[in-house]
Amino acid sequence: MFPQRMPCGSSTCSSSSGNSSLSSMYQDLPIMELFELEMNDLDDTAWDLRCAKCKECNELVPHRLLFICQYHRCDGFYEPKKDHEVPAEFYKNENVFCSKCAFTGSHKHHNEDIEEAHPVAVAMALKGEENLTASFTQMAFLNHEEPVDFFIANEIDLTGLPVLPIEKCLFGSLDSYDFQIKKTNFDVLKKTVEQCRIDGAKYVKECAEKSLAAYHELAKDVEEIIKEHQISKNAEKIRERKDSGTTESTISFQSENEESQFLENTSISPAETVVDKQPEQPFFNFSSASNEVDETTAKMICSNLNLRYDLIRDDMLIEAALQDVSDKLHAYSGSIENKLAAARMFKEKNNVALYYPPQ
Ligand SMILES: [Zn+2]
Ligand SMILES: [Zn+2]
Repeated sequence: MFPQRMPCGSSTCSSSSGNSSLSSMYQDLPIMELFELEMNDLDDTAWDLRCAKCKECNELVPHRLLFICQYHRCDGFYEPKKDHEVPAEFYKNENVFCSKCAFTGSHKHHNEDIEEAHPVAVAMALKGEENLTASFTQMAFLNHEEPVDFFIANEIDLTGLPVLPIEKCLFGSLDSYDFQIKKTNFDVLKKTVEQCRIDGAKYVKECAEKSLAAYHELAKDVEEIIKEHQISKNAEKIRERKDSGTTESTISFQSENEESQFLENTSISPAETVVDKQPEQPFFNFSSASNEVDETTAKMICSNLNLRYDLIRDDMLIEAALQDVSDKLHAYSGSIENKLAAARMFKEKNNVALYYPPQ
């Protein structure tokens, strides 16, 4: 019978202590659940995660103490039968030998061709990985265009993240169990970093979209209120002039000085006076009746459309996404000139045209 549990050697102890510190560090985070979920398949009492049989003497030997023979005329020549995803599968299926058989047994005369099995087993397990080092190097890069990375760089004041020697770490694993636990942990943490970046960017875009839409509403309301004030004030002026015997036609040709004089004599607040003096140049021009394009408004509409497009384009067909954005543009209450300008800006930025004006 094979032993059901290895004695608590250095590998077991270091792995379990590593886990408990990880647990306490991340115990409130879903990442730990993810890690545990992925580790559920891994039975830490399974002997074959830590040792394998020598193909010659059948002795059970820890993974790190097994060897392969690279001498092509030897019966035990290492010729991979298939790609194994985890080192344990490699040790179970390939020709591996204990040190006694490798150096004093039948391979004695070609022992210069004997190699440690572990680096080969780990390299094979990592073969399916798309360049592990490159992906972790890329992950360390802080992209200032992305909100989460921007925050890390500017608020936490980090110029970059250290590139981690992930492969070196995995090659140094003690056995298949140690390899799998490290690999799963790295994968989960990497996934977390990537997901945080995605979630952060999405959240910021959603907030920006809501904020711009609210600002757009606000500006529209303010403009309408100013217009109403203007109308009621003009009506008041007309009434007062009529009362004092002046006709409406003369009012419309009042010089600005006279009007200012008039405003000073009435009891309106200074803020209203300022607004009253420049009614033809509103700060925002969303619903302006003029045919001119208001650059700020068009840009604001365009940014809002870009945000919307970024949010939805990965989840649907490009035509559907463009239709959605076009509908949004159509629903805007601004002038047609501003909306057309926004559609042009959108096309310049994204290289795709909106369905606007609707055909
Ligand atoms: Zn042996
Ligand atoms: Zn041999």
